Amino acid sequence: MAKACIVGAGIAGLASAIRLRKKGYEVQVYEANPYPGGKMHAAWFKGYRFDLGPSLFTLPWLVDELFELCGKTPGDHFRYLRKETLCHYFWEDGTRFFAPASGEAFARDAAQTFGEDETRISRYLRRNERKYELTAPLFLEKSLHRPQTYLSVQTLKGMAAAGSLGIFDSLDGVNRSAFRSPKLVQLFNRYATYNGSNPYKTPGIMSMIPHLEMALGTYYPEGGMHQIPMSLYHLACSEGVTFEFSHPVQQILTDRGRAVGLKTQGGTESADLVVSNMDIYPTYRKLLPQHKAPERTLSQERSSSALIFYWGVRGQFPQLDLHNIFFSEDYPGEFRNIFEDKTLGDDPTVYINITSKESPGDAPEGCENWFVMINAPGDHGQDWEALVGRAREAILDKLSRNLGVALRERIAVEEILRPGDIAKNTSSYRGALYGAASNNRFAAFLRHPNFSSSIRNLYFAGGSVHPGGGVPLCLLSAKIVAETAPKP
Ligand code: FAD
Repeated sequence: MAKACIVGAGIAGLASAIRLRKKGYEVQVYEANPYPGGKMHAAWFKGYRFDLGPSLFTLPWLVDELFELCGKTPGDHFRYLRKETLCHYFWEDGTRFFAPASGEAFARDAAQTFGEDETRISRYLRRNERKYELTAPLFLEKSLHRPQTYLSVQTLKGMAAAGSLGIFDSLDGVNRSAFRSPKLVQLFNRYATYNGSNPYKTPGIMSMIPHLEMALGTYYPEGGMHQIPMSLYHLACSEGVTFEFSHPVQQILTDRGRAVGLKTQGGTESADLVVSNMDIYPTYRKLLPQHKAPERTLSQERSSSALIFYWGVRGQFPQLDLHNIFFSEDYPGEFRNIFEDKTLGDDPTVYINITSKESPGDAPEGCENWFVMINAPGDHGQDWEALVGRAREAILDKLSRNLGVALRERIAVEEILRPGDIAKNTSSYRGALYGAASNNRFAAFLRHPNFSSSIRNLYFAGGSVHPGGGVPLCLLSAKIVAETAPKP
């Protein structure tokens, strides 16, 4: 049987393994860590459970699809619930907005809270829907790097509508022309961070992201986000995929322009097809040093990284939900800090994810597990000890002020994840969460394709290649890989 070897058991590596197995390959996955999931790892710290990476789950049917492909009923193996509230938003002047998940209710409540015209909000949401429908089939679901993609009617429709998609303005520009309320502009600007970008640079087409949440829904997997990779890992094993953990791949072997296997510390493994789920930057620099690298692609600005405090907190906070945001007062300044100055400011926007709201067993009784994250620059060798110390104080002051509690006294457990830790744990270049940033209008076309144009039978899946970062797009990258790979 023809053999496929996969470098990495991140979410895209797992999905590629399942799809290639169903296509008829014998599949072996090599993972540097002793566990599957990559960025989607989880841990218990003294009685508190934390998802260490992603917390927001959209398009769950992309996971279901993998179970269906294997002839299984998804709900027997992986369950999730749809959230009725998207997020609790907080501003320093006391404004609170608990955003409902349905577009209609969102427009009604947002109009009341922000003094904005309800019809303007509804019109904006409808435009986002149109953008999503016109572009998702081209930019997300297909390879942008194969001529046949451009021959479909849907693609031609999307391209013809390019002018109305907002690609010539920034997301901030599109939002400012839609709304009078600066708070509503800030709320919708934040969606740029869903792919690690800067709202003042990323194209206005990104306003399709809220459509994902408001129309297609946000979900919570039973047992937390970690259940996504774990359920796919078990599915892959049940289909006969084999895994070698704690096995970093040292080189992708090639012969006469063709991928022929992998080298690990244990020896070499031959393969008919290789998929790298490793970040594209170290894939070229470390695994393919003898090949010419696509320098233009690799020099793209990286997405933002993150600084995360995992806090076990004594007490319960009814004003908080699963997802919570405390906005900074100077949003443009915050993004200048991150992308231009590569530093952290004194008033960051703070995101808190609390899974014990949905899974009470994730924290001891009467307590909550707070995943407290701020967007951060990538690791460029800054003095992280000083930056983390300052950010910690700023976050504690901000949350204590906004929630009216002495938060410092409530922290029972603390662990910290810095950009350098993300880089070290997953080989993500500079600790970027989503590969390259989408800070210019050509970003989608500058992402690396899902296949190599110079090395036959070499494919790429994951957040640093097409169509982009984030769990759903990683799952789509695996789908494109399996569709493009030859039949065994
Ligand atoms: P990774 O998860 O990076 O996995 C790559 C795997 O390859 C790793 O396991 C690594 O050990 C392995 N590997 C690397 N090199 C080698 C080698 N040489 N040999 C063998 N194995 C190797 N996305 C969302 O959708 N929603 C969110 O809310 C969200 N929040 C996030 C918050 C944080 C803190 C982080 C870090 C990410 C977040 N993301 C979010 C992004 C999301 O986690 C990623 O886009 C996605 O998980 C990336 O998956 P991947 O398969 O590309 O790679």
